[in-house]
Amino acid sequence: MTLIVPSVLPVLQALAHTQAAMAAAWRDALTTDPTRGPVTLVAVSKTMAIEAIRPVLQTGHRVFGENRVQEAEAKWPQLRQDFDGIELHLIGPLQSNKAAEAVATFDVIETLDRPKIAEALGREMIKQNRWLPCLVQVNTGREPQKAGIAPDETVAFVTFCRGLGLNVTGLMCIPPVEEEPAPHFALLREIASSCGLTTLSMGMSGDFATAIALGATHVRVGSAIFGARPAVAAV
Ligand SMILES: *Cc1c(COP(=O)(O)O)cnc(C)c1O
Repeated sequence: MTLIVPSVLPVLQALAHTQAAMAAAWRDALTTDPTRGPVTLVAVSKTMAIEAIRPVLQTGHRVFGENRVQEAEAKWPQLRQDFDGIELHLIGPLQSNKAAEAVATFDVIETLDRPKIAEALGREMIKQNRWLPCLVQVNTGREPQKAGIAPDETVAFVTFCRGLGLNVTGLMCIPPVEEEPAPHFALLREIASSCGLTTLSMGMSGDFATAIALGATHVRVGSAIFGARPAVAAV
């Protein structure tokens, strides 16, 4: 796979623009709920080459998302040598035969989406004695082709994962592309509250402001920062 190297200046301008838009949405949210905590930007660097990520790290940003274990393994050990404090989130589907690599490579797993993966991750975390925070991916649109736990099964799944010793801290969702995202964000927040969970990863380039208004603690933004990805790699 050929990784993309966008030019530096537009990426840094887009990063600043995204951070400013996030801050504006957060200030608005504070007017209705003064207790709202800060929102973390997960900069989604999938398909981007190391040279594209390095300038973003040089601004001080440290939280990134990747959707493929193999790609992350190829890129991040080098970057971790050069920058302290990196927090790398897995935001793509995980195969159970990649659980060992995922636990070794990432700091947060956002895509806990089925019992088999929960069991594989639980075994690996014990083996590596590395207890990563995990988010459960909820299929809020109940789309048959999409990964994630059904909304009405989430409470039971969270309990199951905790029984395996997993440190479940929150929920994430990817709303159906052709629908208004707001009802999905509202539903995710409602489910999280019934699970007693406070971390909500929701909102991407096109809808992160909406997600922040509805309670996101983490937004996952790729193309608005790094530019468009080729269609084949966009998933
Ligand atoms: C690619 C991806 C994103 C970022 O999408 P953009 O529209 O480029 O911001 C966010 N979340 C997940 C799960 C992704 O796979």
